[in-house]
Amino acid sequence: MTAKRKKIPVAVLGATGAVGQTFMRLLANHPWFELAELAASERSAGKKYGEASRWLEGEFPEANLLDQRVIACDPGLVRSAVVFSALDSSVAGDVEVAFAKAGKLVLSNAKNHRMDPDVPLVIPEVNGDHLALLANQRKKRNWKGGIITNANCSATVAAMALAPLHEAFELKQVFLMTMQAVSGAGYPGVPSLDIIGNVVPYIAGEEPKLERELGKLLGTLSDDEIVPASFAVSSHTNRVPVEHGHTICMTLSFKKKPTPEAAMKALREWTGCNATLDLPSRPKNPLLVSDLPDRPQPKRDVNCGGGMTVTVGRVRKDPILDIRLVAMGHNTIRGAAGGSVMNAEMLVASGVIEPA
Ligand code: NAP
Repeated sequence: MTAKRKKIPVAVLGATGAVGQTFMRLLANHPWFELAELAASERSAGKKYGEASRWLEGEFPEANLLDQRVIACDPGLVRSAVVFSALDSSVAGDVEVAFAKAGKLVLSNAKNHRMDPDVPLVIPEVNGDHLALLANQRKKRNWKGGIITNANCSATVAAMALAPLHEAFELKQVFLMTMQAVSGAGYPGVPSLDIIGNVVPYIAGEEPKLERELGKLLGTLSDDEIVPASFAVSSHTNRVPVEHGHTICMTLSFKKKPTPEAAMKALREWTGCNATLDLPSRPKNPLLVSDLPDRPQPKRDVNCGGGMTVTVGRVRKDPILDIRLVAMGHNTIRGAAGGSVMNAEMLVASGVIEPA
């Protein structure tokens, strides 16, 4: 797509929330997309965006966006054919179906449709080829729109670190433990008295999500369906007093046993799916492997690659399984809005989303 072409108008559903605001920041100067419509709940509909939302970080949106009226999440009101969804999962399921039925292409961050067999669950560098499921979905459901999802924020960080290792050595078992930032719970999210100076060893629904999504993400596309990867996953998920960035300690076993040096080499040499190379949101390095003994750290590494790079470190031998390591990535950028925007870029590059 050349720079001279008109930008494609897009809408954000759930524009007032933590992920919705991240969409606003990432779309503000996007070379291919123009943020045309902002939608949220009935509580916000009709208000100016600046009144309906409490801006959480970064530069305030341009005055024209702050003054723009928020609309309800009604496909009859939204004109854009491409719709990013940052909706709460209590409503996302039905609303996203209604938009797809109305012919809109929905790029969703919510959990509701991720495991539907005909819905692509995509991290472009890892399994961009799974977007091909969309054609099957359209045929099967007889709709012109569609639903494309990105993964749970921790599953995204884990899958990016695991993809090169699974490709090279075939994973058998994944044991993982997360330390998840508070922004992962949205806004206002976790009450301050529950999290300041504390660790909460429970995030509702998070462990099953990680355990099922990793198999689909690292699975293979075969005859219009995804055959999930067969490795076993055991997870512990914790909320920690960090603003952004989910850190994941992982211990792994493989069918072909790698040395730590071979694992590091596979991680370092991985560039991900070639079709992503020219996409505007693709970072130079989807994975950055650190040799420093005390990295990754969310405070120091979370904004690497504009929040789209996952940093991996502490790759070493494990005395029980084979290899252990730590991965960390930005939950609202790589793990949410940035991932969705890159999925949409893949669809533009492959001609599924047509230029304006
Ligand atoms: P959030 O801050 O709570 O925002 C939720 C958004 O949903 C708000 O814009 C809200 O609008 C809207 N909403 C709530 N009820 C609605 C209704 N009945 N009808 C229409 N809109 C409604 O949550 P978030 O953290 O941004 O998360 C958004 C989605 O992304 C969730 O499904 C979440 O699981 C997923 N996700 C989040 C992260 C993360 O790191 N935060 C990462 C990956 C995926 P009002 O302001 O008008 O209420």
